[in-house]
Amino acid sequence: MNPIYALIAERAKHACEYCHAPELVFNFPFEVEHITPVCRGGSNDPQNLALSCRSCNLRKG
Ligand SMILES: [Zn+2]
Repeated sequence: MNPIYALIAERAKHACEYCHAPELVFNFPFEVEHITPVCRGGSNDPQNLALSCRSCNLRKG
């Protein structure tokens, strides 16, 4: 698991930062994703990371 997950999940209060679905209703932990992808110059800073549920993550592609 991403070591920064705990920090991001705490900040997001364990809810998806896009659709605000609570992590609790899913049977697996949310994923930490980059708002600006690393390949496009995004950093690994918490400011560039968001807790995302699977559907938001997939939608974003
Ligand atoms: Zn979501």
